[in-house]
Amino acid sequence: MIVIMQPGTPRENINTVVQRVEELGLSAHLIDGEERTIVGIVGLPLPPTLDEMFEVFPGVERVVRITKKFKLAGWDFHPQKTVFDVRGVTIGGEDVVVIAGPCSVESEEQTVATAKAVKAAGATLLRGGAYKPRTSPYEFRGLGERGLEILATAREKTGLGIITEVMTPSDVELVGTYTDIFQIGARNCQNYLLLEEVGKAGKPVMLKRGLSMLIEEWLLAAEYVMAQGESRVILCERGIRTFETMTRNTLDVSAVPVVQSQSHLPVFVDPSHAAGKRAFVGALALAGIAAGADGLIMEVHPNPDTALSDGAQSLTFDEFRALTPRIAAVAQAVGRGLPVPAAMPEPVGATA
Ligand code: PEP
Ligand code: MN
Repeated sequence: MIVIMQPGTPRENINTVVQRVEELGLSAHLIDGEERTIVGIVGLPLPPTLDEMFEVFPGVERVVRITKKFKLAGWDFHPQKTVFDVRGVTIGGEDVVVIAGPCSVESEEQTVATAKAVKAAGATLLRGGAYKPRTSPYEFRGLGERGLEILATAREKTGLGIITEVMTPSDVELVGTYTDIFQIGARNCQNYLLLEEVGKAGKPVMLKRGLSMLIEEWLLAAEYVMAQGESRVILCERGIRTFETMTRNTLDVSAVPVVQSQSHLPVFVDPSHAAGKRAFVGALALAGIAAGADGLIMEVHPNPDTALSDGAQSLTFDEFRALTPRIAAVAQAVGRGLPVPAAMPEPVGATA
C-alpha cells in the first residue's frame, strides 16, 4: 500500500503517518520525490481498513493498495528510475556502465593487469571473484580473503570501484569491508537469508538472475534485499537454462525491457555467462545494450587459456578493447552514452 502525500506537506505530517505505520507493526519506506513524498507500507497482515485509516490523516492525498507481489521493487512505490553512485560511477543514469575483470581473482599480477587494461578500454568498475560458486567441488573455488585484499589493491592502483560475490550470510561482514558492490550469484539468488543479510550491510547489491528463475521471482529476490533497507539493487540477466547446448545459457534479452516495465531498478546484462564461449560474447553485449540495459558485466583475462575459471568465455585484453567502441556506438544509437577514453592507449600485451 502507498500513502501519497499532498505536494508541500510538512515533515511532521509525514512523520505522523510513519509513526502510525510503525505502531501497527508494519514498516514504512519514504520515497521523497521532487514534488511529493510517498509513504510505502509493507508488512503482514495489512489490516483491511488501513486505507480508510490513513485517508483522513492531515496531508494525505490518497491511499493506493498495491496488488503486485513485489512492492518496493515496483514502479508504484518508486515512480522514478533508481539511480545511484558507486565511487563516482553513476548506475542507472544516462550513460551505460561497463564492469569488467576476471572471473576469479587468481593473483595480484593478473588482477591489477586486468584492472589497468579494462580501465584503459572504458570499463569503470572492476569485477573479480574471491569466493567462487563452482559446479564441481574439485574446481578452483577462489582465494577467499586474500582475493579480497588483491581486489582492494587493484582499486588502489586504478581507482576502479569493485564488485565481488558473497556466497554465505556469515561472509557478508568480511566481504563488505572490501567491496563496493555485493554480487549475489545466480545459484544464490533465492538464498533468502543471504539476501536479507546483504540487505542490511549498507552497500549496493547486484542480483544475478537464477538459472531457472521467473522474472517475478527475481523481483521478489530484490524485494528481500530492499525490505531490509537497501534500495541500491541492480538486476543482472546472465542467461537462463534452456534446452540449447551450443551456448552455456540462453541470454533472455527480453528480460531487459520486461523488467524495466515492472521495476525502477537498473538492469545489467552479463554476456559472458550467457554465451559461455568468447566468440559470442561481443554480440550478446551489443544486444543487451540495444535492448536498453543500463550496463554490462563481462569477464576479461590476461591469458584466458590459463584461467582458473571460465577461460572459454573470457575476452582477451585486445578483444575487450576492440569491443568497447562498438558498445559505445550501440549505446549512442539507443540514446545512451559510454564514455570510452578518447585517446586509446597502445595495445596492452596479453601478459602485461
Ligand atoms: C560469476 O560472475 O563469475 C558467476 C559465477 O556468475 P553467475 O552467478 O551468474 O553464474
Ligand atoms: Mn565466471
